[in-house]
Amino acid sequence: MRTKIVAGNWKMNKTYQETKALVKELKHAVKEISLDNTRVIIAPTFVNLQKASKMTKSSAIEVAAQNMHQEANGAYTGEISAQMLKSVYVDTVILGHSERREYFGESDELLASKVDAALANDLEVIFCFGEVLEDRKSGNHFKVVESQIKNALFHLESGAWSKIILAYEPVWAIGTGETATPDQAQEMHAFIRELVAERYLSDVSEEVSILYGGSVKPGNAEEIFSKNDVDGGLIGGAALNVDDFSAIIKAI
Ligand code: PEP
Repeated sequence: MRTKIVAGNWKMNKTYQETKALVKELKHAVKEISLDNTRVIIAPTFVNLQKASKMTKSSAIEVAAQNMHQEANGAYTGEISAQMLKSVYVDTVILGHSERREYFGESDELLASKVDAALANDLEVIFCFGEVLEDRKSGNHFKVVESQIKNALFHLESGAWSKIILAYEPVWAIGTGETATPDQAQEMHAFIRELVAERYLSDVSEEVSILYGGSVKPGNAEEIFSKNDVDGGLIGGAALNVDDFSAIIKAI
């Protein structure tokens, strides 16, 4: 059975003090939820990862980073490496978020090297991809998603896929309040699973968790998560509030 995952991407939000407060609240809230085959992951900012990972050590909450550099160390001012994440007990990293692609020019090729560096350091990767509105309107969305996945991930051996989580995030639905319909999400997720099945054996495609991201809220989570190929969500705005995030976890 595929693992269900609810992951919260906190983006550039929450100070140290605010991070401590939200993690504390979340720990209490998550204790009350029965997490049947479901993982809960939060991704605070770099400076707060160590505190969050310490605070969640004995809880069901896992901590992920929002990004990392592909090199191990060196003259890359402002960057953080896979080894540095591992050294503060972070085992998962989000790569390829549309904001990294758009504002920081991250290409598929760069992302392929980040994925390799993460896996070489035994980090699990939540790999994000998704089309912009023009691609959706012109019917190009399947092609765009296919090339994003192929270019960044299809050089991997099948064994590496146990450390890959896919996150389909249509860019037009991120932070806009607009959500893909559950049928649109299911259609794309089924397409992605088929794509992976064609390249690898079906045990890879059947095992990989595919999350949906884009304005998931307590009010729409249950319907989106009810779809066969939707294995959970990557949550932005609603992950910053304990009540909303817990309601989304319950919805799965
Ligand atoms: C995201 O940034 O990954 C995201 C899904 O954001 P939101 O839930 O706010 O649309």
